[in-house]
Formats: sequence, structure tokens, C-alpha cells
Amino acid sequence: MSRVTIKDKTFETSIPEAEILERVKLVADRINKDFEGKTPLFLAVLNGSFMYASDLMKHITIPCEISFVKLASYQGVTSTGTIKEIIGLNEDIRGREVIIVEDIVDTGATMKRMLETLGTREPAGLHITTLLLKPGKLTVPLNIEYAAMEIPNDFIVGYGLDYDQQGRNLRDIYTLVQE
Ligand code: 5GP
Ligand code: MG
Ligand code: MG
Repeated sequence: MSRVTIKDKTFETSIPEAEILERVKLVADRINKDFEGKTPLFLAVLNGSFMYASDLMKHITIPCEISFVKLASYQGVTSTGTIKEIIGLNEDIRGREVIIVEDIVDTGATMKRMLETLGTREPAGLHITTLLLKPGKLTVPLNIEYAAMEIPNDFIVGYGLDYDQQGRNLRDIYTLVQE
């Protein structure tokens, strides 16, 4: 176990890079199978999903497109509940198979809001892949078809995920050490 300190908090390794990459590859394999003959549009939600999107896409072997959107809803270690607009979506998603690529689904509020907003643009299908899912925190009923890993309710950083904008660069996933 290695520890890192980010600002005022201490974190310890919980999912090493090698395990993350194995799990990401398994998701890619499933998507390749399920979307064979289609050309899905992957919509990665920045900033948190940048590493996941990058590693996932390296294993996608079907024709596809990837684009990036941004929104922000989280500060510090608890959800603020304020969800901002989706910005940067320039693609016409009407009639497309869209796969949203997220870093983590916690309460599910952010994802629900995204599904509602994207749904008004009449895609053929809206699908979700998330690197991490906290089933114990999910309060919104969501059909999450492709979750790479399920984790307990603890706050995590690394592999794209931040604590107060830091720690996204860490290659492993770390859990907050409760003091
Ligand atoms: P939700 O709306 O599902 O409650 O929260 C979604 C967003 O909250 C995620 O996209 C992520 O930005 C942030 N979030 C939720 N749990 C964690 C966590 O354990 N660590 C970090 N760094 N962010 C989290
Ligand atoms: Mg996110
Ligand atoms: Mg964040």
C-alpha cells in the first residue's frame, strides 16, 4: 500500500493500474461485441474520464467516433447537488448510438441529468459506460450497462479523478484514509 497526500487529505492505493487496465479491456470487449455493425459515438465527460476514455478507446476495434463534453457538479468530497450545463457538444446525435463515458457514477444525479438532456436530441440509443460505480450510493434508477468496476462508498482519487482538482495524474486509484 502506498500513500499520497493531496492538500489536507491522505489517500492510499486501492486499485492498482494493472487491475484497472484489465477491467477496462473487458468493457471494451463487451462493447465491441454489442455494437458490431454499428458506428457508435463515444461521448466522454471531461475532466474526470480522460484516462478511462483514452485506455478504453485503445481497445475499441469497431468503427466509432469519440467526442468530449464538459460539465461540473462536484466540489471537495461531497456532492454539491448543483449540476451545470453540458458544454461542447457539437455533434448531431440524432439517430446515433451514443455511449456516454464517465469516470464515476455516485448518486447518479449527474448521469440522470445527462440522459434527460441528450434524450431530447433523439439519439437512436443512449448507453452508459463508467469506470467506477458506487452501487451503495446510487439513488436514481439507472441502467448502467458497462461499469468497469464497482466500489464501496469511499471517496477516491487518481486515474482522472480529482480531489479539489489535484490527483488526476495518479496512475492508480486511491481511497481517502479516514482519520
Ligand atoms: P453523482 O451525480 O453521480 O452523485 O456524482 C457524479 C460526479 O461526482 C462524478 O462525475 C465525479 O465528478 C464526482 N464524484 C463522485 N464520487 C466521487 C469520488 O469518490 N471521487 C471523486 N474524485 N469524484 C467523485
Ligand atoms: Mg464525471
Ligand atoms: Mg471532481
